[in-house]
Formats: sequence, C-alpha cells, structure tokens
Amino acid sequence: MPIEARIERIYEQVVRRNPGEVEFHQAVKEVIETLGPVLAKHPEYAEHKIIERICEPERQIIFRVPWEDDDGEVQINRGFRVQFNSVLGPYKGGLRFHPSVYLGIIKFLGFEQIFKNALTGMPIGGGKGGADFDPKGRSDNEVMRFCQSFMTELHRHIGEYTDVPAGDIGVGAREIGYLFGQYKRMTNRYESGVLTGKSPHWGGALVRREATGYGTVFFVEEMLKARGQSIEGRTCVVSGSGNVAIYAIEKLQQLGAHVVACSDSDGVIWHERGLDLDLVKRLKEVERRRIADYAREHGDAKYLPGGSIWDIRCEIALPCATQNELDEAAARRLVANGCVAVAEGANMPTTPGGVRVFQQAGIAYGPGKAANAGGVATSALEMQQNASRDAWTFEHTERRLNEIMSSIHRNCHEAAEVYGSPGNYVIGANIVGFRRVAEAMLAFGLI
Ligand code: NDP
Repeated sequence: MPIEARIERIYEQVVRRNPGEVEFHQAVKEVIETLGPVLAKHPEYAEHKIIERICEPERQIIFRVPWEDDDGEVQINRGFRVQFNSVLGPYKGGLRFHPSVYLGIIKFLGFEQIFKNALTGMPIGGGKGGADFDPKGRSDNEVMRFCQSFMTELHRHIGEYTDVPAGDIGVGAREIGYLFGQYKRMTNRYESGVLTGKSPHWGGALVRREATGYGTVFFVEEMLKARGQSIEGRTCVVSGSGNVAIYAIEKLQQLGAHVVACSDSDGVIWHERGLDLDLVKRLKEVERRRIADYAREHGDAKYLPGGSIWDIRCEIALPCATQNELDEAAARRLVANGCVAVAEGANMPTTPGGVRVFQQAGIAYGPGKAANAGGVATSALEMQQNASRDAWTFEHTERRLNEIMSSIHRNCHEAAEVYGSPGNYVIGANIVGFRRVAEAMLAFGLI
C-alpha cells in the first residue's frame, strides 16, 4: 500500500477507535502526516506497526475524585492519568486541573508528550493526567482536599520508576505540595522523584518554575540566530499570564526585548510602554487575581475585555495559554503586522490552518513539542538531582537548560534538512522524536 494511503488509514482508525476526542485526533494527524519520508526510508517501522502502536496508550486510568467544599457539600470530579509510552523511561508529563478536561484533552497532551520527551534526549517516557476540577475561586483548603482525594487514587499508579507527574494548567507549586504530602502519607515513603515541580525547599530543582518560559525564549533565540537575527529590541506579545507566560516574559525582557501585551481567559492587557512584570507576578502568583486589575494600577495600560492579543502589532508572538488559541485568521493578522517569529510555550496553541499560514509566509515557527520542551527537560534534571540527593545552583541548571534547548533546535533543524524540508521545525521535531521512540520499540520486541 502506498505510504500516504497507509497513513490515512491509520488516522481513520484512530478517529474510529477514539470517538469525539477531537483534540487527540488533531494531535495525531499533525504528527503522522509528517512521517511519510521516514516510513519511506525505514520500511521496518510500517512492518512492525510502530505508528499504530504509538497511537494506542499503554494504559489509561479514569477515576472518581470525591471531596467536600467549604460549605460541607460533596463534590465529585473525574480524574485521569494516561500512561502513553514508556520505552524511553518512566511516563512523564503534567497534571492539568481545568473544567474543560476530558479524556480527549489528556490524550492529546500525552501523545504530544511522547515525542517532546524523546526530543529532549533524556530518559523519560510520555504521559499526562488531570481532572475537570476548576481551582479558580476555590479556597486553599478546598484545593488541598481535592488534591488529597485525587492522590488517594493516583498514588497506586505512579512512582519514581513508573510514572512521574508534574504541573500544567491549574497545577502549580501549591497543588504539587498537597499532592506530594498525600503521596508521602499514603506510601510512607519520602520518594522525592515521584513528582517534579516541587518547591526547592523540599526537593525541587531551581529553574523548574522558570524552565518552560525561559526554554521557549531560548528556542526563539536559536531560530533567529539561524537567520542571522536576534531578540534584542524586538516588540513581543505573550498570551496567558500563568507559569509559562510569566517566565517567557521575564527572559524576553532580560534579553532586551520589549513585551507589550499578555492576557488571561477574560481579556488582554496592552501596555505600549512595556509590561510591568512585577505587577503581573503579584496579581497572578501571589494574589490570584484577574489580569484586568493590571489596568487599575497602570492608567496608561489598556484592558481589552474578550480581545485578541494577536491583533497587537509585534515581531515575536509567543502563545503560552492553551490549545487552539491562535487560528488561521489570527495568524494572517500577525504576519500582515510584521511578525517574524512564533514559538509555542503552550501545547498545540496554533490550529492547523494557523500553522500553514506561518509556514507559507516563511516566518520562524517553533512548534510546542520543541519550543516548550524546556519544562519537562528541567523536570528530568530535577529527577537527576533527586536520585543523587543533590541540589544544583540556579546558574548551573539554567546553563543546562540552555544547552538542551540549543541541542533540540539543532537536531530539529538538521532533521528538517535531511528529510528535504529545510527550516520546517514541525517536520524536524516530529521526525527526531518519532525515530527515537520507534528505534526503542523495535529493540524491545512486540510490546
Ligand atoms: P497556568 O495555569 O499557570 O496558566 C494558564 C494561562 O492560560 C492562564 O493565564 C489562563 O488564564 C490561560 N488559559 C487557560 N485556559 C485558557 C482558555 N481555555 N482560554 C484562554 N486562556 C486560557 O498554566 P501553564 O502556564 O503551566 O500552562 C500554559 C500552557 O503551557 C498549557 O498549554 C500547558 O499545557 C503548556 N505547558 C506548560 C508547561 C509547564 O511547565 N507548566 C510545560 C509545557 C507546556 P485563566 O487564568 O483566565 O484561566
């Protein structure tokens, strides 16, 4: 059967076997439609049905999470952990707490994570989890009770050599603390390596908090360097105002860029003079308020309720909020306004139509599985420190992160050239990640 027809058939099977999971279908399509040249060079991958096997998670766990709110009312949420692929190491990937979470979102994230983790070159497999719980507006006690109930079930499925969760949307240092505390209590083990993103006071790595945002900016730096350009002096916009967005803004500012806008799910802050990052951090990290409040403290900043951040003129755009936040029309506006680089701090933030626009325009476009891999790579560095009961300095860890991002960039860039699509980081990232996983799967026999 011709390769294109084989790939199409695999995709149809995925859609049929996973009905309604549209984000998962999208993530699978985006990867497998780039693998034709690899299958042509390596017929053994098709013969051993490597793609079909990768598309089927090794294990999926769905569980009830009952907890009591501050009014004494019982609440019930649904928890997930999808253990997708463990040929390169223990399953590794974050937990997302957001009301939109369902199996299709966790599977799209878990699927992406397989290739992202492989790209880092570190010994980590791919997985993802979460719950349809909304931490927004909940008290610390409610979040604690939820996390304790969630971990009461999850603890039997994870471990430092089995599956190592971390944070994602709605799961930051506070949630990781509650989750780790309950894991320790349930297992009677101080197993630091079971979760990453821990506070540096009790086993966390310095730079993990900053890693995804910093890493995304390091990736932009490399893409621009490859074109003889740099970040300094560029006008930038960064969507979101959570963990990834805040530290992407921080690194952009450190490198001399001018960041004029960020957002949350309610609206956009546009501050032409340049964002006051200390204020964003205080509002979002300390006081857990909405980004709209930024404009109350800076009279010259504009708040655009429900606005699109992609309407704002910029040279570098970093989508750092959520999936499918940047569509084809938004991509066209960015290109028309002179944007030269887009790198995804978020997972799958650009729709397939948006990606096509960037590629046709020839701008530097870094897909999430390469551009935001710094977070999980630094999680792997946290696991290394936990295993050796060591703690590295901020400078040392940031240097390692920078080296890892350069090497991811180099590998994607080279693979894109070797496979006939120079400058196409989507193809480069998919091929490098896929080949590492495929080779290990072949070596392990039929599993
Ligand atoms: P946070 O929860 O810290 O922040 C998420 C931000 O995105 C908030 O500003 C939030 O606004 C906004 N947002 C979330 N959902 C939506 C939505 N449906 N529509 C519009 N805005 C939304 O999460 P992170 O910063 O950790 O994660 C952001 C992205 O980065 C996600 O795609 C995640 O998968 C990805 N990522 C994260 C990594 C990490 O290390 N944390 C690693 C690699 C990727 P609001 O407060 O209004 O909801």
